[in-house]
Order: sequence, then structure tokens, then C-alpha cells
Amino acid sequence: MQTSKAIQLNGGQTQSPLPQPRFLPMSRAEMLALGWDELDVLLVTGDAYVDHPAFGAALLGRWLVAHGFRAGIIAQPDWRSPDDLARMGRPRLLAGVTAGALDSMLARYTAFRRRRSDDAYTPGGKAGARPDRASIVYTNLVKQAFPGLPVVLGGIEASLRRISHYDFWSGKLRRSILLDAKADALLYGMAENSLLAVTRRLSASPELPQAQAILGIPGTAVAGRLEDLPPGAEVVELPSHQDIASDHPKLMEATLALERQVHQAKAWAVQDVGGRWLLLAPPAPPLATDEMDLLYSLPYTRQAHPSYTEPVPGLETVATSITSHRGCGGGCSFCSLALHQGRGITSRSKGSILAEVAGLAASPGWRGSISDIGGPSANMWGGSCQGDKAKCTRPSCLTPQPCRHFAVDQEAIAAMLEQAAATPGVKHLRVSSGVRFDLALASPAYTQTLVRRFVGGQLKIAPEHISPAVLRLMRKPGPEVFERFLAKFREISQAEGKEQYVVPYLLSAFPGCEQKDMAQLAAWLRQKGWRPQQVQCFVPTPGTVATAMYFAGVDPKGKPIKVARGDGERRRQHQMLF
Ligand code: SF4
Repeated sequence: MQTSKAIQLNGGQTQSPLPQPRFLPMSRAEMLALGWDELDVLLVTGDAYVDHPAFGAALLGRWLVAHGFRAGIIAQPDWRSPDDLARMGRPRLLAGVTAGALDSMLARYTAFRRRRSDDAYTPGGKAGARPDRASIVYTNLVKQAFPGLPVVLGGIEASLRRISHYDFWSGKLRRSILLDAKADALLYGMAENSLLAVTRRLSASPELPQAQAILGIPGTAVAGRLEDLPPGAEVVELPSHQDIASDHPKLMEATLALERQVHQAKAWAVQDVGGRWLLLAPPAPPLATDEMDLLYSLPYTRQAHPSYTEPVPGLETVATSITSHRGCGGGCSFCSLALHQGRGITSRSKGSILAEVAGLAASPGWRGSISDIGGPSANMWGGSCQGDKAKCTRPSCLTPQPCRHFAVDQEAIAAMLEQAAATPGVKHLRVSSGVRFDLALASPAYTQTLVRRFVGGQLKIAPEHISPAVLRLMRKPGPEVFERFLAKFREISQAEGKEQYVVPYLLSAFPGCEQKDMAQLAAWLRQKGWRPQQVQCFVPTPGTVATAMYFAGVDPKGKPIKVARGDGERRRQHQMLF
């Protein structure tokens, strides 16, 4: 077991870290072997437990242990009765519930609402290990197993469904998942510090009613009354659930207002849901660099829990990838990140990233390749807003034109990659996070280094479309920017004598995209002599601006747009590229 250093966080309380176990416990026997007679926090997840920093339950569990709380994991419980959930006993403070890395409906159904036959986050890749609407099902089970225990929801499913949202799989508007699950609170965004603050608050004030103890912790949502808000609080009132139900464009209004609330990070957001109020405290401040460094330095084994007898496919993809930062300034309208991680960038220090590279290269069974160093985008490590973010009303830092306040030193990124690649034991290093090509064009030195050294033959890149009208709705740069990048990519590859390709990621059936736009895209692909490999039919996942467009049939300015809604029409658009 290893011990991490104590740090000061959240109001200066110093917590003594607990020794980090090799794996977080998944059974009572494992708990007892650690000398833990009870857990402080039980984490319930729809994914298998993989002890890798790309998996939320591992990150949060180890973060809690690093701050003195005993955390255990129940992964993919049998949901037919509460017994499986009760196997480690009642936790002292709370249960944290997540559907896993994906919304459970997206994990279980295809873009055409067919049941998927596999699940990358389950041992053996088998489908069926998690229920539909896992956050709701698991919360009900915890409530049955441990009456009165506070339950907090978190993860992408809860975060993106935190206010009224369109649910593509039922074709209906749904209210906040907090109310449907009857959980005590919902943690939105990246939840390390909000979960820690909730845990500390419940530990310090066991006499307080749960909602009262949690109310006001940044990054949390609870159900309550307007009178519960702190006096003088800045408040954004979102359109009510009932107004959205009767006037669909109001979902666009609500989504844009929530996007601003997240970005400006100072106001509460409130929503009337049939006479009850949803109270969303201002977002939690993102982790500081030293907190990110601590989080990623915890002793993850990078392996699936030893109780599994089959490999977890999702681990294979990320086993040797390294997270350098969080957040993305792009603000693409279809991306869940804008409302989850936000547009602010939080980066690890170079030393921390290089230490992780060195640790990997010295690990048993090391084969020499690092599959990625990046984040939501490859080239935003160290990026920051040099303007006044709290007053910023732009929906993207990069489109329609890069904002003059958006600063990122891409030469420093190139230098960091070079240093990582020079680490003894590292034979290959690739960048497989998506490269923001508009940003890359601003730094010839970065693009040169990337294409020369770190592409590995194929660069996956996401122009998403070629029609200027569709790209505007997506908040992506225009086609001429992608063409410029392509030309640069070819020029550098040729100069290096390398046969390398760009693999473009494309989206069909986006709201506002018509047959003529798809025909334009198909003609462009033909002219390039490309056969598309990566085309995704747009799925209106909960909470995004694009989904509000799909639901309401209007663009963000309220202007009506055509939407391919039925599966037949969506399929026709999709098949135009094949
Ligand atoms: S001011 Fe510019 S860089 Fe800063 S958040 Fe707004 S758009 Fe992004």
C-alpha cells in the first residue's frame, strides 16, 4: 500500500490520507483485509471497475481515500434485488451513484434505437450488464438496501440530465433526473471536489437533513424552495419544465442559459418543475494544477479488478493513454463537454505528465507504446482565457473566429511530447486525441512536430461536415480551414517522405442538415477519392444545444430549421455517404 501526501483543500481543512489499497474493495472480504469494518462512501457504477484514471469510479474512489475516506465500489450490480448492493454493508456517510462513462441509454442502444450487442465497459464486452436509466435504477436499489442513506448522483448521465431534457430513446421531454431518481443531490461536472465537500459536510454535520447539508456546495443540485437560496445570490431562472413542455423552443433558451451559467461560473440556476424548485449551485471550481497532479499521481494499477475473468475492451483502448488536461474551448454544439467539463482548460504540470510516462515505461509488461497524451482535444494543454471569463458571452472560444483572449502555447505542447517520447523505454508515442485543426494552424511549429513525429500513419480528425451552414450550427470552423490544414498535413508528410492519411470524422442527420448538404458532403468525399470510415449518425444525447435544436426545430437564435427526425430520414442521410 502507498500513502499520498496530505493536502489542503476546501476551506483549508487538512485531511489525513489513508493508505491507498492496491484495488479499492469490491467485497466485504476485501474491506476487512484492509482493516476497514465499514465504508464511508459506497460508489455504485454501471461500468466494470477498472483501476485506471480514465474511469470515473477509480478516480473518485482513490481521491476520497487520498483525503481520508474509505471508499468501495460496487460495479454493475445485479439490479433484480437490492441484495447485491448491500454486500459490503451500509456505508457510514453516503452512496454515490453513476451510470458509468456513458449515458446508459447510449451505452445500450444504437443511433437507430436498436439494442447494442456489446458493451466496451463490461468484462468480455458483453451487453446486458447495466439497466436502462441506470442512475434511476441504482438509486432505487440503494434506497431499498439502506433506507435513509444519502444518495448523490454523478457522472455524465446525471450531469447532462440535470434540468429538463429531451430523451431521444423515449422521444419525450423529461424532467431533471434528480427528481426521477429521488436522489438527495446531483453532482454536475467533474465531481472530485464537490463529492469531497459533500462527504466532508455529511461527516461533520450528521444531524443536518441531507438536502440542507448539501445545499450550496458548488457543483451540486438539490430540490428545494427558492427561500433556501442564500440572501443576495445571483440567480438565473431557467424556463420552467411545464413551459418547455408546451413551448419547445424554450428548451433552447434553457440550454443556452445553462451553458452560460457553467461558463461564467458565478450564478445559481433554478428551475420550476411543477411547483418544486431545482436549485443548482454555481459550478465547482475546476481542479487546480496541483490538485490535478495529485489526482493523476495516485497509484492506479491500470488493470481491471482481479475478480474479472475476461478483459474489459474499454481498458484496452486507454491502457497506455495519459490525460494531460480537461476542458475544451471549442464549445461544439453537439458535445456534452460544454456542459460537463466546461470550456475552461485545467492542465497538469509537465513534471506530472512526464512522471506518469516514466512510471508507465518502468511498469511490468511494458511494451514501449504510449497511445495518447491529450484530453478532450489534443492541443489545448496549458490553454487559458486571458480575458474576463465571468463576463464572456461567446459560446465558443474558437468559432466563428478564435477569440483573441484564448491563449495556448502549442510549441510548449510539442516540446512536452518530444520530452515524453525521449523517456527511456518509450519506443512510440502517438497523439490520438482529436486535434483542433483551426488552433493547430496557428502554430506551424506544433503542426510540424505533430505530423512529423506523432501521427503514426493516420491522423483522426473531426471536420464533422463540409456544408458551411451545417458547420455554423455545429459551431465548427468553415470548410476552408479544414482544407488549409489538409494541405499543410500533406506538405509536411511529403517533405518527410511519409505515407500518412487523415481519417475524417463526419456526422450525418445533424439538425439543420438537409439532403442537399449531405449531397455536398458526398460529392466532396468523391472528389477527394475518400471512402468514409468514420461516419456517425447524429444522436440527440441529453443536454446539448444540438439536441435542443433537434427537439425544438430552431437554431440557437430561434430561427426555424429543418430536422431529420424519423429513423427513415436519418438513415437516408446517413447512407448517402456509402
Ligand atoms: S473571453 Fe474569449 S478566451 Fe475567454 S472564455 Fe470568452 S471566448 Fe474564451
